[in-house]
Amino acid sequence: MSEGAAKKEEKPRRFQAIRGTRDLLPPETALWNRVEQTAHEVFGTFGFGEIRVPVFEATELFARSIGLETDVVSKEMYSIPDPIDGYERKLKFIEEELPKLDKRGDTLQAYLEEVQKEFEKYPEVEMLALRPEATASVCRAYIEHGMQQLPQPVKLYYMGPMFRRERPQKGRYRQFYQIGVEVLGGSDAPAIDAEVIEMVMTFFDRLELQGVQLDINSIGCRECRPKYVELLRAELLKVKDKLGPDSQRRIETNPLRVLDSKLESEQGIIATLPHIADHLCEACAAHYAAVKHQLEMRGVIYRENWRLVRGLDYYMRTTFEITAQGLGSQNAVCGGGRYDGLVELLGGPPTKGIGFAIGEDRLILSLQESGKAPAQQGRDVYIAWMGERAHATAIRAAKDLRKAGFSVELPPVEQKFGKALGQADKLGAKYALILGDNEVSEGLWTLKTLADGSQAKYTEPDLLEHLRKQKALSS
Ligand code: AMP
Repeated sequence: MSEGAAKKEEKPRRFQAIRGTRDLLPPETALWNRVEQTAHEVFGTFGFGEIRVPVFEATELFARSIGLETDVVSKEMYSIPDPIDGYERKLKFIEEELPKLDKRGDTLQAYLEEVQKEFEKYPEVEMLALRPEATASVCRAYIEHGMQQLPQPVKLYYMGPMFRRERPQKGRYRQFYQIGVEVLGGSDAPAIDAEVIEMVMTFFDRLELQGVQLDINSIGCRECRPKYVELLRAELLKVKDKLGPDSQRRIETNPLRVLDSKLESEQGIIATLPHIADHLCEACAAHYAAVKHQLEMRGVIYRENWRLVRGLDYYMRTTFEITAQGLGSQNAVCGGGRYDGLVELLGGPPTKGIGFAIGEDRLILSLQESGKAPAQQGRDVYIAWMGERAHATAIRAAKDLRKAGFSVELPPVEQKFGKALGQADKLGAKYALILGDNEVSEGLWTLKTLADGSQAKYTEPDLLEHLRKQKALSS
C-alpha cells in the first residue's frame, strides 16, 4: 500500500472535552453573563472592586494556605513542574551580578559561594498548580501589592475558573467557576461578617434563586479550636470501630471533617459528639453572638448548624454555607468564613480576613431547574433582501439598526423571499425587513411582524421610530 493510501484510511481523532470539563454554549451563556453582571452590580453597591488573579500559581501557595491534609491539596490539584522558571531566575541573577564582580573587591571564591547560595534558593524545578480556589491568590496579591497601605478593609471580588481533580458528577466538575469575595484588613467586627453574608443573600435574592438556606457556625480560634479538636478526637477514638475508613483516618488527620460525613451509618454516632458552640472561648462566643445579632438586624434568616466546619484549614470563627434547590446531593452554592491568620501565614502582616466563594455552575443549574433562566433571545430583525441595489441598502439598514441597539441578521447571499422568511422564523426573529427593488426605489421599506404576519411600509426614519416604540413597549 502506498503511503498516501495509508494516510487516507487513518481517521482523524475526534476530540472531546476532557472529563469533568465542558463547553458552555449559547443560549446558556446568556444566563452566565446575567449572573456575572448581577454580581458586578450588587457587589459594586457594597463598595467592592474586582480583582483578576492568575489561573496558576506556585503549588506551595495553595499547599501552605489550604493545608496539606485537605483533599484539595493532597489529591485534587493539577500541579506541574516548571523547569524554565528556576533556570531563568538563575540566569537573571548572573546577568545582574556578574558585571558588579569587579567592583566587589572580594575573591572569586567568595563570589562563587554567594552564587551557589543564591542558586539553592531557586530549585531547578518549581511546581506550579492550576488554582483550586482563589482566596490564597487574593491574599498573595494583597501582600505583593502592599494593599495594607490602602484604606482598610480592602474589599475585593473575583470570578473565574477553578480546577480540582474531583470525581465528576452532577454539579461537580474538574473545571468549575467561582464568584468570590474577600474582605482583607481592618477589624474583625461582627458587622463585617454579617454584611458579607447580607451581600451574598442580596445577590441570590436579585437572581431569584429558589430554596435558599443559609447555615452558620463558629469554629473558634487558635485558642479554643485545638482544645475542642482534641476533645472531639478523644470522643471519636472511643467509637472508632463504628466509623467508616474515611472517618477513621480523619480522627488522626482532621477530626473536624468527620462532622462533614454524609455516611448514613455514622449519623447516629455524630449526633452524640460534643458541639463546638459549647467550647468556644469567651471572645469567640461573644463574636458569634454578635454576628447572629447583626444578621437579625439586617433581616437575614439563618440556621445554626454545629456540624458546619468547612473543608479548608484556614477558616476560623464564622463559617457559613448556602444551599439552594434543584441540585441533588451537591447542593451547596456558596461557602465562606473568616480566615484571620491566612495573610500572616503567607508572609504578610497580621490581617483580618473574611470571604466566600459561590459555585457559579451550581448557581446556574439551580436557576435553570427552577425556570429562572431567560428564554433564548432571538434576533430583532432579519433583513430579507433581493438584488444588488437592495443589498447595499440592506447593509446600511443593518448598520443603522445595530447602532440603535437592535440585533440584526443580514444574510450574506441573496435568498428567495420564501426561504428568507423561513430562516427568519427559525432564528426566532421578531421582524423581517423586506428590501427588494420596489422598496429601494420608493424609499418605503416593508416590515413584516412574524408573530401575526402583518405587514406595513415605512420610511427609514419612521421604521426606526416604530421599532424603538415596540421595543420600549415590550421591555
Ligand atoms: P470551596 O472553595 O470548596 O469552599 O467551595 C465553594 C463553592 O464552590 C461550593 O459551595 C460549590 O458551590 C463550588 N464548588 C466547589 N467544588 C466544586 C466542583 N468541583 N464543581 C462545581 N462546583 C464546586
